[in-house]
Amino acid sequence: MTRILAIANQKGGVAKTTTTASVGAALADQDVSVLVVDLDPQGCLTFSLGHDPDQISKSVHDVLIGAEDIADVLLDTDDGMTLLPATIDLAGAEALLLMRPGREYALKRALAEVAQDYDVVLIDCPPSLGVLTLNGLTAADEVVVPLQCETLAHRGVGQLLRTVTEVQQITNPELTMLGTVATLFDARTTHSRDVLADVSDRYEMPVLDPPIPRTVRFAEASASGSTVMRGRKNKGATAYRELADNLRAYWDGADLATYEAGEQ
Ligand code: ADP
Ligand code: MG
Repeated sequence: MTRILAIANQKGGVAKTTTTASVGAALADQDVSVLVVDLDPQGCLTFSLGHDPDQISKSVHDVLIGAEDIADVLLDTDDGMTLLPATIDLAGAEALLLMRPGREYALKRALAEVAQDYDVVLIDCPPSLGVLTLNGLTAADEVVVPLQCETLAHRGVGQLLRTVTEVQQITNPELTMLGTVATLFDARTTHSRDVLADVSDRYEMPVLDPPIPRTVRFAEASASGSTVMRGRKNKGATAYRELADNLRAYWDGADLATYEAGEQ
């Protein structure tokens, strides 16, 4: 059975794209077949997987507006994943889609044609709660919310959860909120743990295990068009591998491994 997981938070810079690319690469390393979907007009996922959005002629935009078949737009990546790429054209999809009936279902309908070819589909949502994120949440079985472990990390989480609830009520009753992925975590301070404890209490959201530590390797990797999973070993890659393993175990029927932010 294919699992479709959306990675969403309307806040930028919380590591949605990094989480999508790293979990995807970790799964692909284990011979899981992975399709990643770039839903951000900035095309950061597309770029970080080695494709220059400015050099791509067909993208998810054409698929969403019905101008191209999804199968004709997919690209291979060096990390062994398949990519549905984004270009800046996608910024216009928002306006075009808004005028169409069933606009929230465009991605779900497109994925239905290819999803059975993959074990896992990861959807990297854009930093907004507009029609593109609604498409991501409508197409997904599950959603995780990357959250940067900093003061005020929770701002906007309530709004995101209301959007998820509305999607569950209207376009996708099957959508499950798995919880948050704690990113840019600094285990040396109690601050990161306090932030996580606060968020999980406030919104009753589990924190997936493990938190992802802050490491300079991530910035280097995204600037060079390759994921952090390749190259030298580092604690960020190790954490994402563990997260991918825990998700896999959960999909195979185990309880989802969660992190107790209050303890340690
Ligand atoms: P989003 O997709 O939510 O906007 P990104 O994944 O693009 O966020 O990450 C934002 C920035 O943070 C990028 O420059 C990325 O390299 C950096 N980053 C992400 N995760 C980490 C980490 N664990 N440690 C250090 N930097 C990180
Ligand atoms: Mg992003």
